[in-house]
Amino acid sequence: MIVISDKSKCCGCTACVNACPAQCIVMRRDREEGFDYPVANPDRCIGCGKCDAVCPVKNQYAASEPLTAMAVRCEEYVGGSSSGGVFPALAKVVMDEGGVVFGAVMERDLIVGHAEAETMEEVQRMRGSKYVQSDPYSSYMDTEQYLKDGRKVLFSGTPCQIAGLKHYLAKDYDNLLTVDTACHGVPGPGLWEMYMKSLQDRAHSEIASVRFRDKSRGWRHYAMTCFGPEGQVVRSVSAEDDPYMALFMQGMTLRPSCYACQAREGRSGSDITLADLWSVASSVPEMNDDIGVSGVMVNSEKGRAYMSRIKAEFVREVQVEAVMVENGGFSKSHPVPEKREEFFKGLGVAGVDVYGHLKKYVIRRPLPVRLYRKVRSVLSAMKRRVIK
Ligand SMILES: Cc1cc2nc3c(=O)[nH]c(=O)nc-3n(C[C@H](O)[C@H](O)[C@H](O)COP(=O)(O)OP(=O)(O)OC[C@H]3O[C@@H](n4cnc5c(N)ncnc54)[C@H](O)[C@@H]3O)c2cc1C
Ligand code: SF4
Ligand code: SF4
Ligand code: SF4
Repeated sequence: MIVISDKSKCCGCTACVNACPAQCIVMRRDREEGFDYPVANPDRCIGCGKCDAVCPVKNQYAASEPLTAMAVRCEEYVGGSSSGGVFPALAKVVMDEGGVVFGAVMERDLIVGHAEAETMEEVQRMRGSKYVQSDPYSSYMDTEQYLKDGRKVLFSGTPCQIAGLKHYLAKDYDNLLTVDTACHGVPGPGLWEMYMKSLQDRAHSEIASVRFRDKSRGWRHYAMTCFGPEGQVVRSVSAEDDPYMALFMQGMTLRPSCYACQAREGRSGSDITLADLWSVASSVPEMNDDIGVSGVMVNSEKGRAYMSRIKAEFVREVQVEAVMVENGGFSKSHPVPEKREEFFKGLGVAGVDVYGHLKKYVIRRPLPVRLYRKVRSVLSAMKRRVIK
């Protein structure tokens, strides 16, 4: 029976919950940090051991090298996607073959969870990175059913979710394409809820949706933009000036398992890994226009076959190392910040000003660096306007 005694050893993938034949495991939110963990009911447990057998942390896949790496941009999708728009282009291929797509969406109540799509309109909600752990809900079971029915399925998620899905399925399916993202880590839904409430209180306005990677100021220096119920902009702040985003990037708010991630270095078993190609200026300088380019790791022959079918205006093979630039997360977990424990303790104090508390822990870059970045961002916006 699954028992979580060390939180760093549970990525929250929910494979155990889905695999339990007695349905006696539920995910419960911890009070201290706002992440969900499985809790089994010993009275209903039949001792079958399935939960331990499907756990991707306990049964890690071996590390593996990608077959090849690519720089890719899909013009039709790049604007509304976080990187170069490869995910929706892959979704289109799968849809055209009568398939189903699973990915992370933000619901109207700002909760992030996995949903399925059978039309490109439905895929729209999956586009864009959401920097909150997504609840897989019943997506593993639903995927299994579609696969057994002979439908093609594209399942996208974090590397640990792909590892969780694959352990849950326990066999390979030709009709399954798995796509993960490079992964710095995830903040929890508890902190996200608290932060959204404090932003709404400060703005005296309802927030109905959030774009974490708003590229209107450029791909590199993106903004976090919040929209009201009518689609109006309630707040738009550059990611480094938003306390939630700044602490995410500083690695302060990640799930404990992210500091000891077991799904890095190709251990997720995914067919394709999507990332931002931050080395663009040196690896494909002709694409250095601040609109967005994906760095794609192709991990399997199936992944290669799908990549050859997408509609992309720019595709170039690059060195694997080019995708790893500024993406240390491919091979190493973020170290635990010294003040992480203090940060979460303070957050739990009754009546705390959540926004102010987060802001207190942001390490600001020195003024000359901030000024330099601002000037660079303005110049790049001007350049993008000229190109258009
Ligand atoms: C939590 C997180 C951390 C990331 N860390 C890095 C990083 O360190 N370096 C880097 O280069 N790239 C990172 N990325 C990946 C990058 O931001 C893009 O999501 C990726 O390159 C896909 O871009 P796209 O333009 O092809 O697709 P888009 O159209 O932007 O599609 C986004 C894809 O991400 C999935 N997704 C979005 N939010 C979540 C979520 N919360 N959980 C699971 N899946 C989600 C969607 O299902 C979809 O498949 C991260 C993404 C996430 C979600
Ligand atoms: S041992 Fe079997 S019945 Fe018990 S919690 Fe695990 S999966 Fe469920
Ligand atoms: S890592 Fe996944 S399978 Fe393992 S205990 Fe946590 S939720 Fe369950
Ligand atoms: S860093 Fe690892 S454990 Fe954390 S969300 Fe990403 S894949 Fe999962």
